[in-house]
Amino acid sequence: MQQLDGIAVSPGVAIGEALVIDNEGFRIPRHYVLREEVENELQRFQNALESVAADIQQTRDSVATQLGEQYAAIFAAHLQMLQDPHLRAEVERWIDNQQYSAEYAVSVTLRGYARAFQKFENAYLSERSHDVYDLERRLLQSLVGHERQQIASLDSPVVLLAHNLSPSETAMLKPEFVLGFGTEVGGAGGHTAIVAKGMEIPAVVGIGSFLFDVSGGDRVIIDGNEGRLILRPDEQILQRYRQRQRDRQSTVVRLESLRDKPSVTRDGVPIQLMANIEFPHEALTSIERGAEGIGLYRTEFLYLGSAIAPTEEDHYRAYGEVVAAMDGRPVVIRTLDLGADKLSSTPSELADPNPFLGLRSIRLALANLPLFRLQLRAILRASVLGSVRVMFPLITTLDELIRAKQILNEARDELINEGVPCNREMLVGMMVESPAAALLIDRFIEEVDFISIGTNDLIQYTLAVDRGNPAVNDLYQASNPAVLRLIQRVVQVAQQANVPASLCGQMSSLPQYTMLLLGFGLRQLSVASGSIPEIKQICRRVDLEQCQQVAAEVMGMTRVQEIDAYLAAELAKLNLGGPGEAGSR
Ligand code: PEP
Ligand code: MG
Repeated sequence: MQQLDGIAVSPGVAIGEALVIDNEGFRIPRHYVLREEVENELQRFQNALESVAADIQQTRDSVATQLGEQYAAIFAAHLQMLQDPHLRAEVERWIDNQQYSAEYAVSVTLRGYARAFQKFENAYLSERSHDVYDLERRLLQSLVGHERQQIASLDSPVVLLAHNLSPSETAMLKPEFVLGFGTEVGGAGGHTAIVAKGMEIPAVVGIGSFLFDVSGGDRVIIDGNEGRLILRPDEQILQRYRQRQRDRQSTVVRLESLRDKPSVTRDGVPIQLMANIEFPHEALTSIERGAEGIGLYRTEFLYLGSAIAPTEEDHYRAYGEVVAAMDGRPVVIRTLDLGADKLSSTPSELADPNPFLGLRSIRLALANLPLFRLQLRAILRASVLGSVRVMFPLITTLDELIRAKQILNEARDELINEGVPCNREMLVGMMVESPAAALLIDRFIEEVDFISIGTNDLIQYTLAVDRGNPAVNDLYQASNPAVLRLIQRVVQVAQQANVPASLCGQMSSLPQYTMLLLGFGLRQLSVASGSIPEIKQICRRVDLEQCQQVAAEVMGMTRVQEIDAYLAAELAKLNLGGPGEAGSR
C-alpha cells in the first residue's frame, strides 16, 4: 500500500481499478488472456522484443556514425538491458503463470525494475529508471500501437491515473465509467479541476510523479476530500473508505430533500443560488440540484476538443438548449474566455510564453472581432428565448469594457436591420477578476447592469500565483486578506450603486466561505451544481447578523492560517451533519 498526497479538487471517494494513461498516452490495462492464448502472447512479446531491439540497434548505428561511438554507448546499454535474459524470463513467467497479456506483463516487470532503480540514493543509478521507463514505452508502442488511448471511449468503470489531463480531455470523460481521477500535475484553480467538479467526478491533482509506481488494474482509491491517492490499499483502509462512500451517499440523499426548499437565511433573506456550467447538458443537472438559474455559462468549452470552429448556428443551438432547459430562469452567458489553459490546440510555435498574462479572454475576443461578433449575434438571437444576460470576462480596463459593449451594440443593430428578433434590453455584465477591475470598480459599475466576482483569477492575479501550478499551490489562498479586502470592497461599492453582484469563482462552492460571503453582503452565489445543496443548507442555518459578525472578525485578522482555522470552527458550529436540519421551513 502507498499513500500519496495531492490537491483535492473535486469531492467524493472513488475506489476501483486503475487505468494508467502514461505520459505518452498509452493505456496499460490489466488484461488476463485465456490459457490457449498464452502461446500467442509469448509470441507477441518475442516480436515486440525483436522489433524494439532492431530499432535501438538502428538508432545506435546512426548515432555512432553521426556523433561517434561514445554517444552511441547509451543505446548499446539499452539494448543490453532489453536483451537481459532475467528480464525476458520474468515477463514470460507473468504471461505463462498468471496468464497476463504481453502489455501487462511488460508493464509490471519494467515498472518493477524502474522502481528498484529509483530507490538508489546514487543519482546516476536512480536516473537509470528513466531508461527502463523508456524501454517500457518502446515495447508498449510496439505492442499497442502509437495512438493516444481514446479516454472518451471507455466502456468499463475505472479510476483514471494520468500525468495530466487537459480541460477538454476532462470534459470528454464519461462519469459513468470514470469513477475518479488523479494526475501528477495541475493546480487547485486550473480548469481541469473546475470541469471535474462540474461533472461531480472525485479528483486529486498535483500529486507529483507516481505513474512509475502503479500498473493498470491495481486497486486504487481517490480521496477527493482530503486530496489523497492510495495505491493498492490494505483491507482496513479499503473498509474505511467504503464506509466514507456510504456516508457521503447518505449525505447526498439527505441534502436532496432540500431541493425544493427555498434558499433563505434564518432571518428570511433570500440568497439566490445559481449554477456554473461548461456544457449545455449540465443545465438539467443544475435544476435537479436546485439551481435558480445559470450564473456562469463558460461558453469557451464549445471550442475545446473540436477541430472545427463552431458556427453561429452551433452557438445559437447550444444557448437555446440551456435557455430552454432553464425554463424562464436567468442564464448568464459569458463570452469566450479562450487562452491560457483553455486553448490546448495552439501549435507550440505560436504558444504564448506567458499565457495567463497574454492574449486571453476578452483580449483575444477584441483582437479577433469576427469570432466575437459571431458569438454575440448568437447570444442576441438566444436572448428572445428566455431570460438571457451577457457577461464579459477578464475586464481590466474601461476601454475594453466600452469597446466590448460597442461591438455588442453593432451586432444588435445588424440583427435588427436583418429583421432578426433580439432583446434590445438584454442585461450586460462584467466579471471582476483582475485587481485593476476590483480597485476601479466604482467606475466600471457605471457601465454595467450586474457584476460577478471571479475569484479563481482574482486570487491568481492578486497574489501573482499561477492557478494551475501545484508548486505554488500553498500560496493560492482564497482567505488571503488582500483578496478578501478586494471582494469586500467590490460588494460594498456594488451595493451602494444598487448593481447586483454575484461571486462565481470556486470559492462560492466551498462551505467554509459561505457565512463570510453573506457577511460581506453578497446575496447571489454561482456555484458548481454539485455544491448547491450543501451551500443551501448553510444559508438556511445562519442569520445575517451572525454572518456579519464572522466577516468583521475575519477582516480584523491578518494571517491566512488564523482565518482558515476560524472559518472552519464557525462552520463546525453549524453542526451540518447532525440533527436540526432547517428543513421544515
Ligand atoms: C474565475 O476566474 O473565477 C472564473 C469564474 O472564471 P474561470 O474559472 O473560467 O477563469
Ligand atoms: Mg476567470
